[in-house]
Amino acid sequence: MNVADTWSGPLRPPASIPQSADVVVIGGGIVGVSTAWFLAKQGVDVVLCEKGHIAGEQSGRNWGWVRQQGRDEREMPMIVESLKIWRQLENEIGEDVGYRETGCLFLASDQKQLDAFGEWLPIAKAYELDTRLIDTGEIKQLVPGANVEWPGGLYTASDGRGEPQLATPAIARAAGRLGARILTSCAVRGIETSAGRVSAVVTEHGRINTSSVLCAAGAWSSMFCRSIGISVPQLKTRGTVVRTAPAESVLEGNAFDDHLGIRRRVDGGYTIAHGTILDHSITPSTIRYAFKFLPALMQEWKVLRLSIGRDFIDEWKMPKRWPLDAESPFERMRMLDPEPNQRAIRGIRKNMDKLFPQLADTEIVEAWAGMVETSPDVVPIIEESEKIPGFYIATGFSGHGFGIGPGAGMAIAGMLTGTGSGIDLSPFRLSRFFDGTPIRPYHSV
Ligand SMILES: Cc1cc2nc3c(=O)[nH]c(=O)nc-3n(C[C@H](O)[C@H](O)[C@H](O)COP(=O)(O)OP(=O)(O)OC[C@H]3O[C@@H](n4cnc5c(N)ncnc54)[C@H](O)[C@@H]3O)c2cc1C
Repeated sequence: MNVADTWSGPLRPPASIPQSADVVVIGGGIVGVSTAWFLAKQGVDVVLCEKGHIAGEQSGRNWGWVRQQGRDEREMPMIVESLKIWRQLENEIGEDVGYRETGCLFLASDQKQLDAFGEWLPIAKAYELDTRLIDTGEIKQLVPGANVEWPGGLYTASDGRGEPQLATPAIARAAGRLGARILTSCAVRGIETSAGRVSAVVTEHGRINTSSVLCAAGAWSSMFCRSIGISVPQLKTRGTVVRTAPAESVLEGNAFDDHLGIRRRVDGGYTIAHGTILDHSITPSTIRYAFKFLPALMQEWKVLRLSIGRDFIDEWKMPKRWPLDAESPFERMRMLDPEPNQRAIRGIRKNMDKLFPQLADTEIVEAWAGMVETSPDVVPIIEESEKIPGFYIATGFSGHGFGIGPGAGMAIAGMLTGTGSGIDLSPFRLSRFFDGTPIRPYHSV
């Protein structure tokens, strides 16, 4: 399974577009697609517009961890529901999404880090999770192929993993079978309003009349929202990932330490990332939102590699608004496809050989990068806009939206239809970044 196949096939523009829909979803990542699926299950007439390929950006490029462990408490009700959906997904949609409940392990390099992991246990207890601290002996059983002795770790056996290249396209097909219209190569340029509320979206292929629009545009949400007068603080970091050829088992689940994030794949290989390299290219957005992101930047200081160059100029030149009857920035860049960081790839190879000597002869067959979009407190933004009724936002999943995506889709669909989902979405309101609420990112590892 070549990862890049998800986004390198021919683009298929729609033969025609519908004149109207109850709801239009912007973005074919796991959040938009899951929302469309849950709406279609409720019989809602939904159209999803994706400017490139389904799962062509973050949702097809991530590590594939489906984890409850270490989350900000605000996300707990949604991730617990999400795990329930993942467990049933294959049965319900009749396609393999690669979901396996093989556990999630954070490995501590010293006692101080282990104590810090332990601080999350009260949250696990409140949500009746099976999370616990484990010792060196138990780690050896879970990661038998490791050449290192960790003093302990935080472990949740009921966490899982899924295959990013399988899951989102499969959910999109399931939504399609229930009547959702999934349009690819169909960028949304903007919205129209009537009497102050949403009345249509304008796509590159024409207008779709609707009273409800969901912006689930991932790394593009801030730019889209800014063009209609809504400020959404959002920054991007580049993460580099590799895939190995199938190899002997050194672990079956997901494990993270300061050197590597490693996950077993359903094809018998591993998806691996460097533990401490995240690239942030400074852009005008970095300066615009610097104050709000200060706590997150300070927290990630050790792993962030800052640079300034072409991206600054590109974003600087990007228009803030554009006419809806001409090509927009979304068509000009169908897909964010950053170059992987070669230094990170060399580091992964080195750390992999050191930690897992049995993998020393295992080939790295593919490398790619993805742009992770982040909110200032590293927790999503989900709400109906206060400024434009009928315009909804679901973005800022901050590097852990794959696992929570199906649960978020269920909750967002409930918000859109007004039927609710039992999940309180008020902690995710956009206004928390503007009303003086302290911005406190939760640090999980
Ligand atoms: C390297 C990496 C590792 C990660 N690891 C994990 C992990 O292990 N576990 C986890 O839970 N999460 C992980 N994440 C995070 C996770 O992938 C994201 O949080 C999640 O995929 C976000 O989904 P989304 O639907 O919000 O956005 P996306 O998947 O980015 O989808 C947004 C879509 O909107 C489309 N779009 C944008 N603007 C328009 C427009 N105007 N018109 C039409 N379409 C538009 C884009 O083309 C894109 O396809 C990782 C992310 C990366 C990059």
